[in-house]
Amino acid sequence: MTDAIVIGGGLAGLSAATALSSLGLDVHLFESKPFLGGRATSYSIPLADGTTEEIDNCQHILLKCCVNLIDLYRRLGVEDGVEFHKEFYFMEPGGRVSHLKRGMLPAPLHFTESFFAATYLTLADKITLGRAMLAIFLERKRRMDLDQITMLDWLREKGQTPNLIERFWRQVLVSAINVELDQMAASHGFQVMWLGFLAASDTYEMGIPKVPLAKLYGATLKHVTGHEKATVEQFDPERGICVDGVWHQAKAYVSAVPADRLAKLVPQLPIEFGAFEASSITGIHLWFDRPVTAMPHGTLLDRSIQWFYNKGEGKYLMLVVSASDAMLKMQRQEILDLALGELGEFLPAVKEARVVKAHVVKEPKATFRAKPGLEAKRPEARTSIANLFLAGDWTRSGWPATMEGAVRSGYKAAEAASTYLGRPGRFLIPDVA
Ligand SMILES: Cc1cc2nc3c(=O)[nH]c(=O)nc-3n(C[C@H](O)[C@H](O)[C@H](O)COP(=O)(O)OP(=O)(O)OC[C@H]3O[C@@H](n4cnc5c(N)ncnc54)[C@H](O)[C@@H]3O)c2cc1C
Repeated sequence: MTDAIVIGGGLAGLSAATALSSLGLDVHLFESKPFLGGRATSYSIPLADGTTEEIDNCQHILLKCCVNLIDLYRRLGVEDGVEFHKEFYFMEPGGRVSHLKRGMLPAPLHFTESFFAATYLTLADKITLGRAMLAIFLERKRRMDLDQITMLDWLREKGQTPNLIERFWRQVLVSAINVELDQMAASHGFQVMWLGFLAASDTYEMGIPKVPLAKLYGATLKHVTGHEKATVEQFDPERGICVDGVWHQAKAYVSAVPADRLAKLVPQLPIEFGAFEASSITGIHLWFDRPVTAMPHGTLLDRSIQWFYNKGEGKYLMLVVSASDAMLKMQRQEILDLALGELGEFLPAVKEARVVKAHVVKEPKATFRAKPGLEAKRPEARTSIANLFLAGDWTRSGWPATMEGAVRSGYKAAEAASTYLGRPGRFLIPDVA
């Protein structure tokens, strides 16, 4: 009999299957779509001018503190497909740029020079920000209510000014966690700041794939039998999984599907599925007739568009708006007009350039909403069904809904499943600090 069946070929399923197969176990993976990678994928789209382009399902970035994701890259042999950037660019309307990069001082003081030089914050803001960073350092392990309060509650408690909240905290944290500060559990905000900004001097470095996401995650898995275009319709602990009316049996099962899918597949699990609300991300792809920037990326202050990424010689830019619920109601042309108007305020060359083609991707269910109180509802890998284990970015990974969270969940499920199978393996790499 097959040792393990993994349901879902997103990053959680890929990492669970890769980890289990590394123990020499016979692993089968079933994925609905014709390709692997789940939400972190790329695909070809036909455009209005009759051409096609391969685009990522939104820019997916990681930080160097994503140690399990980086480990998965090594296991898949794709680590060369990601390039790490050591500098962030905070851009004000009008185009003034402040650089955030490691300086001479050791962690946690390594950004001191950058913050002192930054033009987008006042001196009073910088001092207040320093105090809040110190408070994160001191309160991180001591404070017990961080899962119950919002990040905004905490920032106000620490006297952070509206300018500082908008131009620093919101800019960084909403992009990382994909919910507004007034809905974000403070524990997640703490984690991003601690691991990305304070714990070590290189963990903030941003990894950007150099290849389409499908090349990173879509490669055929070695030592795992993949079944694509194979939707699991039913699960039964005794009979196994049912795909196209055929039952497949294994000794253990790992579900790596999103919460709403699991609710249909195994409704008897004691999980409050309704607590997992979705939060959206909108991606805007713009191809210009000429280069509009030489910068690799930039974060845009005081506007709706939060980031741009230079995807090809300054002529192809991808813009990202996290927690983009307001955009879900907007028409494509309205979004394009807004995006171009805003982008022109930061990159003046945009005003002279002609848009050759454009594409808007709204992802209403990009991630779950990491609200206060939700952490306790995220399920562990073990379930009330002895041979069923759970993975997925929404499970209790210890991280918010990110690629690192998905891989952590996959490794945790693989550890639990391998123990059940009598071949215990250890895969999860602890956080850097
Ligand atoms: C627009 C967007 C931008 C993002 N940006 C970032 C970013 O910059 N950095 C970052 O770290 N994270 C980012 N994320 C989040 C990240 O993509 C996810 O957290 C992660 O990919 C989730 O992986 P997963 O395996 O848990 O779930 P998924 O990727 O959703 O995988 C689940 C898989 O299960 C399959 N499936 C579902 N039901 C069945 C079934 N019944 N039978 C078989 N297969 C089934 C699905 O087809 C899917 O492939 C972004 C997400 C989106 C949508």
